[in-house]
Amino acid sequence: MRSLACPSRDEARDYLADAVEPYTHAGLSKGYAATGAELDSVVALYDAYDAGFGAPAEPLKGAGLTVELRNAIHNGYEFTQAGRKLAAIRANLMAGVELCPVCGIAPPRELDHHLPRSTYHALAVYPRNLVPLCHDCNHSKSKSVADDPAERFFHPYLEELPNVPFLRATIIIHEGGLVADYDIDPNAAIDAVVRARLAYVIERLKLNERYAREINIYLTSQVTAIRMSFAWAGPNGVRDYLLAQADVESARFHLNHWQPVLLRSLAENVDFCDGAFADVLPA
Ligand SMILES: [Zn+2]
Repeated sequence: MRSLACPSRDEARDYLADAVEPYTHAGLSKGYAATGAELDSVVALYDAYDAGFGAPAEPLKGAGLTVELRNAIHNGYEFTQAGRKLAAIRANLMAGVELCPVCGIAPPRELDHHLPRSTYHALAVYPRNLVPLCHDCNHSKSKSVADDPAERFFHPYLEELPNVPFLRATIIIHEGGLVADYDIDPNAAIDAVVRARLAYVIERLKLNERYAREINIYLTSQVTAIRMSFAWAGPNGVRDYLLAQADVESARFHLNHWQPVLLRSLAENVDFCDGAFADVLPA
């Protein structure tokens, strides 16, 4: 789990105006002829959204707007699809995000409405409410927002995740197999609600099951380096290699990415470094 650079909102009002602009499709009138004052009212909701760090709040549902305007914004989200008039919203948000900010497994392919579009119509095309996620994370995340603050996803743009190692992998080597169980490190210096929210994300998105599928593929890429480190310098060589590679990957991805977390845990595993790697990694 990581934070992302907060997108600009310089064009948010223009995007909004384009999203609702009236048009005719198959003989039917669509969109909504919004006044400048109405657009300003929506932008005021954007201000409130930013001020509240994207947390759910009744006023953000835009009850003061007309139903027609809210519906037009909701439907206007479709224009963010490739080739349509608001495709730039999607392209700009996706640009430079190599991996899903939540799982770190796959590239993001979809935009998630952090506050769901079905409830928060007026925020449907607000770039800061749109977060690039991979397909699996987007589909496992609930489409509603929990009342319990401990069951809320982090806002990758507006909330700062703690800049300390908080993800932990516990390694179990058993009968020729290697299992890593991920959880939130009980010793990490983070507050209780943050801890609960991080743990909730791991559970809700079934990250342990998903990481289990990735670990053996990933470790295959490390086999030769581990084997050569052992041949040259024994268990200390393996440990030093794993820690050095973890530093490279932390810098490349982030501190709490599952790969460097796994490597650091393997470096601490005496059996693994002492040769058990040969039993659990491909020959
Ligand atoms: Zn993901």
